[in-house]
Amino acid sequence: MTPTTLFYILIGIIVINFIVDKILDSLNAKHFDDEVPAELTDVYEEEEYKKSQAYKKTNYKFGNLTSIFTLVLTLGFFFLDGFQFVDSIARSYSDNSIVIALIFFGIIMLGSDILTTPFSYYRTFVIEEKFGFNKSTKKIFVLDKIKGLLMTAILGGGILSLIIWFYELTGKDFWLYAWGLVTLFTVFMNMFYSKLIVPLFNKQTPLEEGELKNSITEYAQKVGFTLDKIFVIDGSKRSTKANAYFSGFGAQKRITLYDTLINDLDKEEIVAVLAHEVGHYKRKHIIFNLISSILLTGFTLFILSLFINTPILSEALSVSTHSFHIGLIAFGILYSPISEITGLFMNYVSRKFEYQADDYAKNTYSAEPLISSLKKLSKNSLSNLTPHPAYVFMHYSHPTLLERIRNLRS
Ligand SMILES: [Zn+2]
Repeated sequence: MTPTTLFYILIGIIVINFIVDKILDSLNAKHFDDEVPAELTDVYEEEEYKKSQAYKKTNYKFGNLTSIFTLVLTLGFFFLDGFQFVDSIARSYSDNSIVIALIFFGIIMLGSDILTTPFSYYRTFVIEEKFGFNKSTKKIFVLDKIKGLLMTAILGGGILSLIIWFYELTGKDFWLYAWGLVTLFTVFMNMFYSKLIVPLFNKQTPLEEGELKNSITEYAQKVGFTLDKIFVIDGSKRSTKANAYFSGFGAQKRITLYDTLINDLDKEEIVAVLAHEVGHYKRKHIIFNLISSILLTGFTLFILSLFINTPILSEALSVSTHSFHIGLIAFGILYSPISEITGLFMNYVSRKFEYQADDYAKNTYSAEPLISSLKKLSKNSLSNLTPHPAYVFMHYSHPTLLERIRNLRS
């Protein structure tokens, strides 16, 4: 294969990816105005339903605009030999391959972040604001941005440096060491994410004494879940949208409830949501996800080790000196169809797990309060009641509201 052929294969993958995405989006958008299924007619009042449709359409148009912008930018960068340009800047500062790679990715990430920040600003302060979701301030927005960038620089930069170091020490066996490193990091993050990362962005407090806590205690004792693992997070700092999630394992396991969720739902509904989260824990979903992501990483790194030493990866991007970081860029694109497929599989498994957690809540608590809480949450986030099945299959990590209600009532 010639470098030019490989170049056009990379471009082909990027363009096909874009087209598939746009077809799915437009398929989904064609069904925004479908008749609402009988089970869901009580989710919205008429006025609110109109608002939810306007929200979906606004997001659809805005999504098209951002993805076209990103595509044009990416293709421009490829055709104008952007990688060679950035690589030569990085090389002018150092001869050390790790330093070069850090400067290279630093420029690319910072550059793309600066170019896409106006879009996320517009989404938060214009779209979300207009539909009444936004509670964030410009100060929080800027601080989030800075904290996020620093975190990526420290964690991402650290891991990348070590992987390149392994590569230089051990050649193509580097993937085994890299896999070990990423596994340690993933397990550590899974355990301590709530203790180390979340506090940088939010405040978490134990559940307050009172009627709600009493009901939760009663349920938790019945199913054998330790109560000191339930926290309330100040999600209302940024958005009115509500959520709840389970994280960690072993002594570090916890359920986090958004304060917005506690405000929006009644006592029984909150216990039902909590029961769903306990279901994720009892059915060992967290462990399954952790193990599959570790195995998947090992597979990806192994495939990477087969290709990384091929200079054609750099030649295809018109970069004169072959290096690990340029190989990584080309490989990332070549690998993306495979990661699409594994992503589809993980979404499929995730939807199965949601049914299992719903069933657990139904069997240990009750189905109806969970149904009414799901309806309220859908309404409060103006979510789509009539998504297209192909869009659900490709993108949804949760079954649709209709599917969940039918399952809970079966
Ligand atoms: Zn769930």
